[in-house]
Amino acid sequence: MTELETLQKWLDESRKGVFFGGAGVSTESGIPDFRSVDGLYNQSYKYPPETIISHSFFTRDPEEFYRFYKEKMLWLDARPNAAHKKLAQLEAAGKLAAIVTQNIDGLHQAAGSVNVLELHGSVHRNYCMKCRQGYDAQYVKDAQGVPRCRVCGGMIKPDVVLYEEPLDGETMARAVEAIQEADLMIVGGTSLAVYPAAGLINYYRGSRLVLINKTPTPYDSHADLVIAGKIGEIFSQIEV
Ligand code: NAD
Repeated sequence: MTELETLQKWLDESRKGVFFGGAGVSTESGIPDFRSVDGLYNQSYKYPPETIISHSFFTRDPEEFYRFYKEKMLWLDARPNAAHKKLAQLEAAGKLAAIVTQNIDGLHQAAGSVNVLELHGSVHRNYCMKCRQGYDAQYVKDAQGVPRCRVCGGMIKPDVVLYEEPLDGETMARAVEAIQEADLMIVGGTSLAVYPAAGLINYYRGSRLVLINKTPTPYDSHADLVIAGKIGEIFSQIEV
């Protein structure tokens, strides 16, 4: 059996699969990841991305934070690719119980997925830090400089987990539960370099751990099936 045939068979047999993904899931939608050669970490800015998108930097220099954030992290014209779409179909068909994602782009929901656990939040939710009034991503994108609340003038913060900030406990607990109960776990488009998210893999207790990534990851030797390649191209060959 080819790798793809094995993946197809395991998906056919799955009832409680979990997909765990990262930035590589959205590169085929035109959103750059962080660690590929053409990713954000290999472009030149005054500060490295992990410095700019940290809590302390946001507090210290919101102007510069938002300049980077709007230019490099808000991709409001991006559309779901074949991987997002096939994953939504797999959930609708009763094969996939949850999507756990490190992405903040909302593309799984745009493709129709329902149970999406966003470990790092979403660019689509934004709040006034003073009065908690909510705003959409377009409001943030269109604002001149730092976006401010229409109601009270307070500074708006994206509901995105910045470096130095803790992950939401409830989302994490739901992700752990889904992974512990999973009969199949597919991990895709993630370098598995960002903790605590990457550590979630250790909660999987089954014997069908699939890794789909363009480049090797530190978990390749733990996987039952490793498929090297582009995740959109791979999922476009899967039948639901
Ligand atoms: P990463 O950038 O560290 O790693 C991405 C991985 O995906 C790499 O190993 C790369 O080889 C692989 N990859 C790229 N394109 C691929 C494709 N088409 N098919 C298969 N594999 C592909 O990303 P990460 O592990 O998710 O961690 C970075 C952090 O950055 C995350 O915490 C995430 O919140 C954030 N981030 C999010 C977005 C987004 O929302 N779309 C984009 C960039 C970064």
